[in-house]
Amino acid sequence: MGRIVLKGCRQEIHGEKVRLLADVSGAEVLWFDVDTCYQDMLDTVSVDAFFILYLWLAMENGVDLCVEAPVSQKLSNAVTGDIQSMFLVLCPRLHNIDVWVIAPQVVWPRADRCESATGFSAGVDSWYTALKAEEQAKPYNYYLYSNTGQHGLNNLDEVFRQSARLAENALTTMDRPLIVVNTNVDLVFNEHFQQRHVISNISCVLALQNCISSYAYSATYSEKDSGIFPHYDMAIMDAILLPLLSTERLEFVSIGVGASRTDKLRFIFGQQKFSNKLFVCVKKNLPIRNCGLCFKCSRTQLALESIGLKESIRESFDFALYQKKRFALMVGLFANARDNSLDLEVVDELNERYGLKMLLIRLVASIWFVIRKYLPAGVKWRMEAKAPHLF
Ligand SMILES: [Zn+2]
Repeated sequence: MGRIVLKGCRQEIHGEKVRLLADVSGAEVLWFDVDTCYQDMLDTVSVDAFFILYLWLAMENGVDLCVEAPVSQKLSNAVTGDIQSMFLVLCPRLHNIDVWVIAPQVVWPRADRCESATGFSAGVDSWYTALKAEEQAKPYNYYLYSNTGQHGLNNLDEVFRQSARLAENALTTMDRPLIVVNTNVDLVFNEHFQQRHVISNISCVLALQNCISSYAYSATYSEKDSGIFPHYDMAIMDAILLPLLSTERLEFVSIGVGASRTDKLRFIFGQQKFSNKLFVCVKKNLPIRNCGLCFKCSRTQLALESIGLKESIRESFDFALYQKKRFALMVGLFANARDNSLDLEVVDELNERYGLKMLLIRLVASIWFVIRKYLPAGVKWRMEAKAPHLF
């Protein structure tokens, strides 16, 4: 059985970017890059950022992992203790492997700066996290925008560049820098993005732990839906996993557990520093914008209507398209709410707001839910491409 050996890391300058690369054998070289002005933030004394990624990769490939370079003792204990077992439960396709950590360390050189950060994509969760900190007069020093696979495979560089620019424009009211971190994680991993996106994003923060000592991670799932069980989305175990990924120098905190999507929208739309710019879309067509019809655009627009903020849809979406497709968007949402807790929250709000006026929608959604189940795969695929909001 082969094995991956993580020996260290090094930096390279590529024009205006500085790249942090793993020194590794038995696997492809993973890397992170940031603008050279953030070079001093990169962690070059440990391989913590790479450790967690190569653990996943080794488990995907069923090969052992040996870490020869210095690594956090705390992270190492968590990996060899609970984290590996949690990954195996979450994704049963992974393999149980042996992990050797040769040089775990408790004491580290003092960081140049100890600053706080959080991710920012201009979506509902990241706005909520940013504005909550602002409300508590503890704003983050930095915001991070990373490419770990969420930008698709076509026109990847352009999609990433435009999405980062959208996030940067939305963030102007907060008056803090957005650090853009690019990686090749998605090109190396086999499992799909949602299955392992939390560790991909966390690794980008670990790569910057020379300056970042505290990082708030926006939770996707509420406490009652979180747990450790087989699931397509790694975020389902955020509340348990994130504290385990902390090191002696960097602490991860999950924010937003307990707040529903509609609670979050109510809050952010009531904040002065909200720029009224939301970007939630999962479609990657150029130019990048909210498509209005994907599951995230659909859920967000209907959530805004459900809490009496329908007019706000104009700021970030095509309002005419919303009006035209509103009935179908609702049918899709109500049908999906049968097995999706995030959609169910919005459905509950809509029912509360409109009561009996939702009867027709509920009836059509029930019929559509049954029809959809029995659609031949070819028909379903074609319909989904034309009307994503119904699926
Ligand atoms: Zn969309």
